[in-house]
Amino acid sequence: MARLVLKFGGTSVGDVARLARAARLVAAERQPGTGLAIVVSAMSGETNRLVEFAREAAGGALIGPAFDDEYDVVCASGEQVTSGLLALALRRIALPARSWQGWQVPVLTDDSHGSARIDRIEAPDLLRALDEGEIAVLPGFQGVTGTGRITTLGRGGSDTSAVALAAALKAERCDIYTDVDGIYTTDPRIVARARRLDRISYEEMLEMASLGARVLQTRSVELAMNWRVPVRVLSSFVEPGQPNPGTLVCEEDPMMEQRVVSGIAYSRDEARISLFGVLDRPGIAADIFGRLADARINVDMIVQSQARTENRQNLLFTLPEKDVRLALATLQDGREAIDFEQVTADLDVAKVSVVGVGMRSHTGVARTMFQALAARNINIQAIATSEIKISVLVASEYTELAVRALHSAFELDASDPGRG
Ligand code: ADP
Ligand code: ASP
Ligand code: MG
Repeated sequence: MARLVLKFGGTSVGDVARLARAARLVAAERQPGTGLAIVVSAMSGETNRLVEFAREAAGGALIGPAFDDEYDVVCASGEQVTSGLLALALRRIALPARSWQGWQVPVLTDDSHGSARIDRIEAPDLLRALDEGEIAVLPGFQGVTGTGRITTLGRGGSDTSAVALAAALKAERCDIYTDVDGIYTTDPRIVARARRLDRISYEEMLEMASLGARVLQTRSVELAMNWRVPVRVLSSFVEPGQPNPGTLVCEEDPMMEQRVVSGIAYSRDEARISLFGVLDRPGIAADIFGRLADARINVDMIVQSQARTENRQNLLFTLPEKDVRLALATLQDGREAIDFEQVTADLDVAKVSVVGVGMRSHTGVARTMFQALAARNINIQAIATSEIKISVLVASEYTELAVRALHSAFELDASDPGRG
């Protein structure tokens, strides 16, 4: 039997009318010989509301090991509600449907509460139900540990639930219904001239997602790439039968190599820490970044430069905003051993990146990028590159200007704003 997984994001199930439309879109995919499994997010805004409740109940404390498991119990409930509601909306239009909570499937995860990883999905009962023609509706974002505790997969995690389920069910495709009609050359909310892509390679989408394009959770793209699950991103705001080609995330093809840059991503969730006057000696980087790694802090860009004082250097690196406090404390703790003069942190920075498999075969991408930024007087604080991306760190007030400038410089602008 063929199988298809459809996922509906928060805005797409944001109220009862939208749930009814999602049900109609599901109905349109129904055909003999195809099993349908549906994954839903919580209604938009709901997870934030639940997080806030959890924070308040925990006395305003930052969520930490003492609270994380109960935080998951609270936050996973948003998806439980929509899974039941969509099953009801499907039954209302005379389709056989039932909800399956994460622990009922089960979707087994590790016990990293708040950002758990799926280990495996054992679904003999669910498979039997699909084979009998029942539509299965699953809450995204949630799983269960081997000892029966509820977990969540990190914000945006329903994408990952859907792709993991598609892999486990050996589905033909995983369709991600959302509030945009596909993957764009950049976030259409900040560039009106962004264009919808027909196709994007797994590798490019992985870079785009990990560099800030939140249209798909990074982990979901990783899973899709590893398990070769074709993923289609499309609009949930249309009625069945209306054109809705979306974007296919799939294997790279020669056409993709022809475009130099496929997309531009940005992330404001960045911070910069600068260490001034670090005593220059072999092993210093290993020492500093070893301490940060021990504190489980993920460092991204690193720039090292000569300080004015002899034998001293300056070191700057970037990290997620949420880790700044811990990083500063870790560095202060090691101040004597590391031997540095001063440490500062700046949260008003953003990372802007250009991504494209075409970079492997085209030269001059960095030059075009730097010239476009220079022409707008945007200062580059740090640079990082890989085979298919170049990222720069800029002051966050320039984020949108930088994205727009690069979008034009790489000729990604649609001639007709707002259209694909
Ligand atoms: P959902 O609730 O359906 O999971 P998200 O809000 O997580 O939806 O993701 C969709 C949003 O991703 C869009 O509304 C859009 O603003 C944003 N986005 C960022 N970068 C891109 C991009 N390159 N293409 C499409 N959407 C993007
Ligand atoms: N509801 C969760 C969140 O808001 C998961 C998701 O929507 O993908 O992060
Ligand atoms: Mg999302």
